[in-house]
Amino acid sequence: MNSNTSYTDPHQLSSDQITHAYERAGESFVLAALMGGALAACLATEVPLLPVLGWFAFHLLANAGHALLGRRLHARGDQHRHVGANLSQLMLVTGASGLSWGASVAFLPFLSAPAQQLVIVVPTAIGVASMTRLAALPSVQSAYTAAVFLPLLIGLVVVFGSAYWALISAIALIWVALTLEARRAHQRVVALYTAQQSLEDKAVRDKLTGVPNRRAFDVAMEREWGRASRLKVPLSVIMIDIDFFKKYNDRYGHQAGDTCLAAVAKALSTACRRQTDLLARYGGEEFVALLFHTPRDDATRIGETLRRAVEQLQLEHAANTTGVVTISLGGATCIPTSAMSALALLESADAALYRAKEQGRNRVEWAQI
Ligand code: GH3
Ligand code: MG
Ligand code: MG
Repeated sequence: MNSNTSYTDPHQLSSDQITHAYERAGESFVLAALMGGALAACLATEVPLLPVLGWFAFHLLANAGHALLGRRLHARGDQHRHVGANLSQLMLVTGASGLSWGASVAFLPFLSAPAQQLVIVVPTAIGVASMTRLAALPSVQSAYTAAVFLPLLIGLVVVFGSAYWALISAIALIWVALTLEARRAHQRVVALYTAQQSLEDKAVRDKLTGVPNRRAFDVAMEREWGRASRLKVPLSVIMIDIDFFKKYNDRYGHQAGDTCLAAVAKALSTACRRQTDLLARYGGEEFVALLFHTPRDDATRIGETLRRAVEQLQLEHAANTTGVVTISLGGATCIPTSAMSALALLESADAALYRAKEQGRNRVEWAQI
């Protein structure tokens, strides 16, 4: 929520994609188990039971590992700090579950022609199906398809040699096309995501000063009011207004006024350092600081820090009594209850700001609530 925070977080995308890809980890496992079971039942009619059971056990184990890790990552969807580590773990378990399909090719030399077709078609179809499920995670998808198609292709070359060249090249082409398509799908997702993030960012950020706008403040105020009320902790707001700004514009011009506003906004948001502080442009030459879980004494100190931060910019303002650009601040603190409203808190801060103006400007005044 800090006003310096960028709203575009690249890790968030990977995290969202992992969350999406493993939304139905349990269902995927049941499906893989059923299909593996059907294939094993078919194989068992033509080859000894023990190797078939061995393959099926590996298949179940690999897919269960895959589903469990997927489910864990999905459940932790909002903690996206370790996406890199998550991805390598995912590639490993996803590769193992793909390999369990690819490994079924080992039965090829011992099967009748119809069963051989099954061992060729099922893993191919599984690889194709991974396209929609894993397209958003290209590295994981590559690991999966490589584990399915590589053993399959090698098996086909070893067992059938040149006799099956058309089928072998067709499967190889499917694999290449799938990989390319997954890459393109991923690029599209990234482009859409970036565009959406930038739109969202524009909607909540003030263009001139780069700090959160009034809309972002209203949303944060409502949220923090509710949170402070539930936790019974103090919430402070500080209304901030540049002194004699009309005169500044009159003397230095509107362009210089804009530059001054941006400089003041930057100084204020740099001084509002805590992650839970929000410094927003309230409108015109007014700003507002929202300080969560901050009692009156601390908030007054922060107000004084903000006042000093602007004064220390030493921006010339000949029409001001101090000769430099200054701000007046009015603060209010309360522990929200149902007897009070966020609007009343803001009005109290505004009244304190009015007092600060009256008493000579370039000062912090606090409301008595
Ligand atoms: P006070 O010390 O009592 O606050 O005096 P003031 O002159 O700052 O107050 P007033 O509300 O009379 O004037 C505010 C001025 O701020 C008027 C307006 O031209 C200027 N202003 C508001 N928004 C912008 C802006 O985006 N850019 C520029 N350059 N000026 C702005
Ligand atoms: Mg004003
Ligand atoms: Mg003013």
